[in-house]
Formats: sequence, C-alpha cells, structure tokens
Amino acid sequence: MTIARLMAEISAREADLIALTQDMVRMPTLNPPGRGYLEICEYLGNRLAKRGFDVQLIRAKGAPGDSDKYPRWNVVARREGAHPGECVHFNGHHDVVEVGQGWTVDPFGAELRDGRIYGRGTCDMKGGIAASIIAAEAFIDTFPDFSGAVEISATADEESGGYGGVAYLAEQGVFAPDRVQHVIIPEPLHKDRICLGHRGVWWAEVETKGHIAHGSMPFLGDCAVRHMSALITEMEESLWPALATRETAMPVIPEGARNPTLNINAIHGGEPVQEADYTGLPSACVPDRARMVIDRRFIAEEPLDEVKAEFHALLERVKKDRVGFDYAVKDLFEVLPSMTAKDAPVVQAVSGAISDVLGAAPEYVASPGTYDQKHIDRIGRLKNCIAYGPGVLDLAHQPDEWIGVQDMLDSAQVMALTLTRLLTDQG
Ligand SMILES: [Zn+2]
Repeated sequence: MTIARLMAEISAREADLIALTQDMVRMPTLNPPGRGYLEICEYLGNRLAKRGFDVQLIRAKGAPGDSDKYPRWNVVARREGAHPGECVHFNGHHDVVEVGQGWTVDPFGAELRDGRIYGRGTCDMKGGIAASIIAAEAFIDTFPDFSGAVEISATADEESGGYGGVAYLAEQGVFAPDRVQHVIIPEPLHKDRICLGHRGVWWAEVETKGHIAHGSMPFLGDCAVRHMSALITEMEESLWPALATRETAMPVIPEGARNPTLNINAIHGGEPVQEADYTGLPSACVPDRARMVIDRRFIAEEPLDEVKAEFHALLERVKKDRVGFDYAVKDLFEVLPSMTAKDAPVVQAVSGAISDVLGAAPEYVASPGTYDQKHIDRIGRLKNCIAYGPGVLDLAHQPDEWIGVQDMLDSAQVMALTLTRLLTDQG
C-alpha cells in the first residue's frame, strides 16, 4: 500500500516537477565558459535545505576552467535516514552546451507545450536532475523511517570533461566507498534503459614534419601535407578495416559503435589560416608541418597500451617505406572503458523498479561516448554506478531540445522505487 502511495505522491507532484525543470532551464548555465553555476547551485541547495538535506556548495578551485569570473561551483546535498544503512547518490551535471543554430523556440524559455518542455539542457540533463529530486523528496515524505542516506549532487563541466565537477568531488572523497554505495546518473538514456558504462577514449595530436621552401621549387623542400596524406592512406588501408573486424561484447548503442572507431577531429597543414578580414593572397611556401587530431574510441576488449602501440606501429610502417617521413605524437586525453556488472546491486534495484513501473524488463546499454561515470569509477573507486534517466539521447545538443513530462514522471517513479528497494525493507 505504501508503494502505491509513493507512486501517487509522484504523480501528484507533476506541477512541481515541471516548475523545477523550467526554473533550471531558465538559468543559462552555458559551458564553455561556465556561466551561472553559483546561481543554479544556490537554487537547488536552498530547495533541498528546506527539505532537511545538509547542503554543501563546493567550488573546484584551480580545476581547468575555474576562475573568479567563471568559478566551477557544485552542490552536494545529503539527507540522513532514521537508521544506519547505505547511501544512494543521484548525480547530474548542471552545465549545458552552446545553443547553436536552428531553434524555433526560445532556448532558455522552457516553454511547456503538448506535454514537453523545450530548451537547451531540458533533456541533457536538467529534466533528469528534476526527476531525481522529485523522486527523492517523495520517497523521504512517504518513508520517513528509511535507513541510510539519500544524496543529490548537481555538478559542473560534464560537457567539458568533468574536471571541475565530478572528478574534483571524487578527489575530495565525496564518492568514497565508505560514504556512498550506489550512484545513479540521470543522463537521458531513456526511461526503460540502464546504461552500464561507456567505451574508452584516446585523443592524440599527430604531427608530420617537412621542410619549408619556395612554392615554385617544391623539390627544394619537403611537404608535410603529403606525408600526412601518406599516413591517412595507410590508415585507410590497414587501420579502419582492422577496427571494423573487432566487436565488443559491451551492449553499446547505437550498434555501429560496437566496433572501435577512429575519427579525424581536425587537420591542418601549412600556412596558418588568416583572419577573416585579411584580403591578400597566400604566400608561396612548402608546408613544413601538418597536424591531425585523432579521436580513437576503444572497446573494453582493447587494452589502451595496445591501442596506442597499434597506431605507433602504423606510423613506423609509413616511415620505413617513405623517404623523409618524420612524425611526433602527443597524447591529449585518455579515459578507460567503464562497465558496471549486471548483477551489481544498483543495477538489480533499478532493473526491478523498471519492471514494476513500466511492466517490462529494461534494456541494458552502454554509451559510445564517456560521461561522469569515468571519474566515479577511476577516482572514486566505486563500481556500483549506472546512468539511468528520462529523455531521448539523440536530442542532446540539438536545436529544439525537449523532455517529455510523462517520461520524467515515469522515471521519477522508477528512481523512487529504487530508493525503496535499497533503503527500506519494502522493496
Ligand atoms: Zn549530459
């Protein structure tokens, strides 16, 4: 009966859920550069403090991007239960990406139309934060006698690597296994899916070297762009075909991302691009340098050192066959794949709650790109972490982004029921 009351409590809070989402969307927490972080953290902190949470505002001082003009603020709120027990933590990022072109609605208007709220950050992921807050509040009101603790955090900079957000908090011990046992990240993965983890990333800058000379006598120089072209030809012939033959057992969606991938993120060779107002001609030079940024996404079955060794071996093959070929590789960024086991307690609890609320078992997925789970896993050393939240992933970062109110309500019921399963004896 109490479960039925909990579900009814959430349905009854629809207006609150909508208003909470709209308030957050109307704060343009754009990243970069990182606007309005303090405002949104104070807003959420004030709300949760009124409901008995201990609230901490934490600035990631000195983190990448942190400055007095754009401080990296985070909020962590904890509500202790009536008895000792485990802690369930909901973590959402409060930053949003740039607006971009093509909008037909006000990106920060949070307009409610036909059961959807429109605006930048509705789906990714202020709607998810709002759903988790409504779930936690309804749960606490219905089961005031619960064991353990409920935590909610809203964190900075997920869209730019999470170093001023979850990574910083993890370094401070916020996700230490003795204070947090279960983490749910309400990213927009769809209300009937549990995201267990993500592929790995290796970004590197590859430079080919040449020799500058007059463009009318290229034989006196050595063209770095032609060397780069030889490298790309070798990638076409050996690397991409090899990647296409490997497939992960991770349930990555979309399915194309079950193979490892490599994207050429940028390429530049020769004379620098001039300012837009430069009206002159280029000068005649042989490029002495070409640079390419690669974005290699790897699967759990590929060790990172092998991923790098494979690329270095490819460079060495080109070098052996090509006169004058010289190169340098600079590592820019790397993240190991993360994958929570299906039998982990948080997965079991959310899975059961999805079946109860939606009447069907969940789909298990993994993400092609990374998200803040990487920091909770590597720095926080907490494996019991998933992404689960409302919204359609494809809408993230798009114009006319929206979140469905019914999706938020359904996933809030799943989250509240998950709390019941983990923190009471009525699950
Ligand atoms: Zn997100």
